[in-house]
Amino acid sequence: MPLFDLPAPPEVPVQGESLGYPVRRIFCVGRNYAAHAAEMGNEIPSEPFYFTKAPAHLTLSGASLPYPPGTADYHYEIELVLALGAPLFRAAPGDCLAAVYGYASGLDMTRRDLQATAKSKGLPWDLAKDGEGSAVIGAITRAAEFGTPGAQAIRLEVDGVTRQESTLDKMLHDVPALLSHLSGFYHLAPGDLIYTGTPEGIGAVGPGARLRGEVAGLAPVELAVTAPE
Ligand code: MN
Repeated sequence: MPLFDLPAPPEVPVQGESLGYPVRRIFCVGRNYAAHAAEMGNEIPSEPFYFTKAPAHLTLSGASLPYPPGTADYHYEIELVLALGAPLFRAAPGDCLAAVYGYASGLDMTRRDLQATAKSKGLPWDLAKDGEGSAVIGAITRAAEFGTPGAQAIRLEVDGVTRQESTLDKMLHDVPALLSHLSGFYHLAPGDLIYTGTPEGIGAVGPGARLRGEVAGLAPVELAVTAPE
């Protein structure tokens, strides 16, 4: 028996399904679009790299998020999110898509100023990336309904103005390659989400901003940034 009760794992709505998708872990891919790596002044990585966010930091689409403490440069990143539905361990790329339960539009919200400081000092990115509420996600669409990630459009609007616009085939490491690579380090399993990186066009938002991102064929992800607490 625990000393006290913790909240149940967060659940993401699934389109056309009354049950929610429970979240166990959240992995995120860095620099997975060449034009985004370039705008950040980074080299294109030869193999994927990752950071993580706590499941407790998940925010469902449509929520309001107070402008977070500790930053003066809070950025949006629109991303395709994978939701696993089967185990993957040391899997070949050709075996990986079958393990994807569904796909969602997501936002990897980032304290960019703290990330820059961490990078310059060679320190971890947790304060920049693993912020409370920083893993925003829209409803999951089952893989059978979405199809295969390919040339679908991915875009983000802030206050009705398009800020990010690309296509999923611009990923440096595609979905099968990412899952195969990550499965070499973890026993991936149902409940694991993977944010697959953002295209170019990232930027800052402040209190009052309304974000709406979308991958074509998926439900949108929406977020309202409100005044700091
Ligand atoms: Mn990202």
